[in-house]
Amino acid sequence: MSVGAGLVFAVLLLSGVAQAQAAPPASTPTDAAVIDDLVAGSRILADFGVLDGFGHVSARAPGNPDHFLMSRSLAPALVTAADIMEFDRDGNAVDARGRAVFLERFIHAEIYKARPDVTAVVHAHSPGVIPFTVSRLPLRPVYHNAAFLGAGAPVWDIRKDFGETDMLVRSPAIGQSLARALGDKSVVLMRGHGDVTVGPSVKVAVFRAYYTDVNARLQSQAAALGGEVTYLTPDEAARADATNLAVLDRVWSLWRLCVAPSPAK
Ligand code: MN
Repeated sequence: MSVGAGLVFAVLLLSGVAQAQAAPPASTPTDAAVIDDLVAGSRILADFGVLDGFGHVSARAPGNPDHFLMSRSLAPALVTAADIMEFDRDGNAVDARGRAVFLERFIHAEIYKARPDVTAVVHAHSPGVIPFTVSRLPLRPVYHNAAFLGAGAPVWDIRKDFGETDMLVRSPAIGQSLARALGDKSVVLMRGHGDVTVGPSVKVAVFRAYYTDVNARLQSQAAALGGEVTYLTPDEAARADATNLAVLDRVWSLWRLCVAPSPAK
């Protein structure tokens, strides 16, 4: 190698090192923690029967709040860290590499746009919830664990804005309509389809998805008993919700133990 060629080689080598040092790591610790919560949350909700072969959990990308992280199109019980993909603010995969994506990713994209306070979103077809999406009885908190329902759980009907469809949130416009119906609430029910719960973290959104379903089942039972049902008052609901958020780690740590650790990839 000539002196000149050696010099060029050395410069290229050094610039390569500099680039390697300057480039952000593929997965920061914060990203890794959120991905771990997404995997756990997907499996927890599948174990509880809140999610089945369908439904999904997402989180705002810690390193880029305009983007969000969500699994490739996959049954939630099968999700591992390697399946988590990054999406831009319109729901486009940043680096799809041939992987299939969820048709209903616009639920997540449009809610993150409309709600800066939301860091995680769960979409489920919870069996307990469906009756409340098609009846006139509002979903209301019958016990303290579902106190977040005290703020209201509006029902969104896709037919109102979009006429006859296959019921899926398969476009940004449909996602925007759903996000408008959610408003400032933690839960929105989808007529003849399911529900969406949101929160300031994955564990809170998962907690709300689970207790939305449990409360719906309990409220159906209470209503079936006949007579008047007593719900939490708005003040009771607000107080209980604050307590729930303060003690959430206890139940989250238990739930995490109940799901298999994601296989190392
Ligand atoms: Mn769906």
